[in-house]
Amino acid sequence: PASFVVPTSVEPEIQELASSYNHMMTRREDILRRAHQFTADVTHELRTPLTILRGETELALRNGRDPKRLRQVLESNLEEISRMSYLIEDLLLLSKGDLGEIPLKKEPLLLNELIIELHHQAQLLATAKNIKVELHCPKELAFLRADSLRLRQVFLNLLTNAIKYTPDDGDVSITLSFDEQYAVITITDTGIGIGSEHLETIFDRFYRVNKTKNRNDGGSGLGLAIVKWIVEAHHGSVKVSSSLGQGSSFTVTLPRLSDSETLVTVDQ
Ligand code: ADP
Repeated sequence: PASFVVPTSVEPEIQELASSYNHMMTRREDILRRAHQFTADVTHELRTPLTILRGETELALRNGRDPKRLRQVLESNLEEISRMSYLIEDLLLLSKGDLGEIPLKKEPLLLNELIIELHHQAQLLATAKNIKVELHCPKELAFLRADSLRLRQVFLNLLTNAIKYTPDDGDVSITLSFDEQYAVITITDTGIGIGSEHLETIFDRFYRVNKTKNRNDGGSGLGLAIVKWIVEAHHGSVKVSSSLGQGSSFTVTLPRLSDSETLVTVDQ
């Protein structure tokens, strides 16, 4: 049975056994439900771009004499194909993580340098919306042991979200601070914010606050799941605080290399 109802008259040991069995079954059901939901989400995410690709290609084959129109179809198809490729890449990374593989190439990395570079990229992305991206970075240097490509992905995901969910003329800021053990990177925006009822689930795979709207922005709802996975694979943590209509703040905490490890790194 899925769960046992034990009369109160039986031995306490039996009651305890039944209760842990019930607990285990609830957990199993939860895992199965999530796996089922995950498959449904993946199927949906791949079916939508495929339907668009098929529809556009069929139409172009039927009526496509105009080279300009044909070019437009090819461009739009390429966009859908890239969207699918990114999705598959992200899913592959998460599924490797599920299997306990951590495909990271960790090397000593100067965090200040990475953040300054990402600040420039974010500024470029934000110009179209006239959003100002500020950087607050201490003079002190912090080294981490990290996979630089993956960390770049973490901060780019957070920064593109900050820009995407902030209306024109808003502000985004990147703040770096350190203590002896940790580096803390906070990305704050003055955007639409996230309702408190969504804050617990925001890092779940495929979770989106507004499912219909975000497809036009190219979002799959995997960005934050990837952020969390990569940060935790670096023994760090990520937190969010937000207030609806006011903006959001994502804080990533990552362990620093110790002074002696840093000395070895700088000497090399
Ligand atoms: P998506 O690809 O849809 O952006 P993410 O996993 O990156 O997926 O984010 C999940 C959801 O969290 C988004 O759909 C959006 O609703 C919400 N979200 C993420 N970052 C922000 C932000 N800075 N401001 C407001 N909402 C955000």
